[in-house]
Amino acid sequence: MFRFNKLVTLTGVAVTLLASPLAAASNLKVVSTFSIISDFAENVGGNRITLTTLVGPNNDAHTYEPRPSDVTAVKNADLVLANGANFEGFLGRLVQASGSTAEVVELTEGIQLLRNTHDDDHDHSNDQHHNDHHHHKNHKHDDKHGGHTDHHHHHDSHAGGHNHSHGEYDPHAWQSVPNARIYVNNIAEAFCSADPGGCPSYRENAKSYDAKLITLEKELESLVSEIPLDKRTAITSHDAFGYLAQEYGFQFLAPQGASTGSEASAQTVAKLIQQIKQQQASALFVENISNPQLIQQIASETGMKVGGKLYSDALSTEDGDAATYIDMMRHNISTIRDTILNQ
Ligand SMILES: [Zn+2]
Repeated sequence: MFRFNKLVTLTGVAVTLLASPLAAASNLKVVSTFSIISDFAENVGGNRITLTTLVGPNNDAHTYEPRPSDVTAVKNADLVLANGANFEGFLGRLVQASGSTAEVVELTEGIQLLRNTHDDDHDHSNDQHHNDHHHHKNHKHDDKHGGHTDHHHHHDSHAGGHNHSHGEYDPHAWQSVPNARIYVNNIAEAFCSADPGGCPSYRENAKSYDAKLITLEKELESLVSEIPLDKRTAITSHDAFGYLAQEYGFQFLAPQGASTGSEASAQTVAKLIQQIKQQQASALFVENISNPQLIQQIASETGMKVGGKLYSDALSTEDGDAATYIDMMRHNISTIRDTILNQ
């Protein structure tokens, strides 16, 4: 397949002049598992790639059921971009069913993943620990677990070392901008090795997008700095904001775990309500991918107002508040800030 791509590229000028559909067909065919990765991929790939997104805007990858068209897309792909860390539970079966030989690149590679601390036995003491480092640029790596490269094979008896086989790590790494920069770099490298001819362009695109992420990071830090330290506890329906919490000095509590695939038990919800009352959580948010019912129940039982919608695991549609990653992060942090300051 790549041989074919290169052939077309060699005769590039003639092909482009003769028939643009043929030129388009020479593009790198990329499948991205969900909308946030797709935004990164578009920024890096520009018009050299043809992109198919499996889990679209406002949709939930945790519980996604692939469609027949997904099988075809993966079968025809040159490259599959995935989050990894058990985020896309459907992906292994899909790739196998498609018979695809495309490389599946896990973009969390090189990111220090947080351990998934959410279960009924755990009292969120780690979250509390994170919250102590409210402006923790200098402490950032102190409280992360797992090695730099061996995080997928790290089966030691670390504190809280249950929950091993599935969901050992929190997959929502994109919720911190420094991690997003690693995703983008990984995408550029993956594109470069799949399409060496496009490498200078991929690297240049990645570099200019990276500059935007650096600007975004400063903007977010400035927004967060306006929020009093003792008001940085928030509730969402599932545990999607551990990285955002760590990066920007929040504590997030959630009745559901790191996946939306399991229902929150009545006991867990009752315990959370108790916890909210004790810790005086400052804000309560619904998520774009989750049913708001649970959050509304917590609102009515605690007397808290629902503060708005956060985008956790998917972007919005084009006309929404979070059509790009940059808009999503800005929207999330602004919503958290506005809600807490106006409480
Ligand atoms: Zn999630």
